This record gives sequence, structure tokens and C-alpha cells, in this order.
Amino acid sequence: MNREEQIEILKSTCRKSLEAIGEDPEREGLVRTPERMARTLLELTKGYDMDPVATLRSAMFHEDYDQMVVVKDIEFYSLCEHHILPFFGKVHVAYIPSGNIVGLSKIPRMVDIFSHRLQVQEHLTRQICECLQQALNPLGAIVVVEAQHMCIQMRGIEKQGSQTTTMYYTGVFENIEKRKEFLNIIQR
Ligand SMILES: [Zn+2]
Repeated sequence: MNREEQIEILKSTCRKSLEAIGEDPEREGLVRTPERMARTLLELTKGYDMDPVATLRSAMFHEDYDQMVVVKDIEFYSLCEHHILPFFGKVHVAYIPSGNIVGLSKIPRMVDIFSHRLQVQEHLTRQICECLQQALNPLGAIVVVEAQHMCIQMRGIEKQGSQTTTMYYTGVFENIEKRKEFLNIIQR
């Protein structure tokens, strides 16, 4: 399906949705909404067409550095796959190289690819970690994601401002001392 076909389908679905909630899709404020919504949804899910492992490998270098590399406070915005509502927050990542390091700007780009797909926070966390592991084959990788979910907050299920934290790790981060070292750095 090409992009114009995608937009046409999304536009007609959105028009029907507006009618279903009792709106008039022809009124002035809404007349261009289906088109805007279609383009926005495609923009927010553009990560399906991108390869996160290849993105990391496009800036991979050999380096005999074997201590922890931490990238913290990476902002992300994603859509939950259960309600198609935003969840957003910060991602903190670390890995311990075994010969390969990656250009640091590539890690936020990789996070961007996964977050521009429909997600649940747990899956996002695991995918980021496994992508690092697969692309760089480090001694270990760890990812913490802290996020607020609009599907929880707007629907009043939990108090505003509540935050969900998820963690996933591989390799040497099985060792609790290594995890503590990482958690210390990101809490600073
Ligand atoms: Zn949700």
C-alpha cells in the first residue's frame, strides 16, 4: 500500500469515527481533521519502516573500552497499542562494550524508531535492550524506561503524575552490583 492509499483509508476511517461520536465531519473546525489525523498517525508510526539494528551499526567502531557507557534522560513519545493514546517520558541506557562502541547520537535515534511504533512500555524497554545486544554484542546492556500514560491519567484510573518504571537487562547486568552502579548514575 502506498502512502496516498494509506492516507485515503485513514481519512475515511476518521470521518466515520467523527460521525460515530455524534460529530459533524463537515463543520468548519473538523473539515480538515481527517486529513490531519491521517498524516499525524503515519508520522507517529513511521518507525515501522526503519531498521534500528542497522541504525546502530551505521556508526559502530572498534574500541578497547570495556567500562560502562551510559546515555541517560533520552526523551521519548510513543502511542500505547491498547488505546492509541500517548505515553511518554525518559529512557536510560547503558552497555559494557566488548570491542564495539556506537556513536552516541545513534542510541536516541534507535529509541525514536521503537517509540514511533504502537507499543506497550514493557515491550519498548525490552526491544531497546535487545537491539543494543544484537547490534553491538556487548558484555551486557540495561534499559530503564520511566513514563506517564495518558490512557491511565486521562481516564482517571490513577492520580495525575503517576509514573511507571520498567527495566530490562542482559549479560553482566544480571549482577546486582552492576545494576546498582547504573541506577546510581541515572539517579544522580
Ligand atoms: Zn493504554
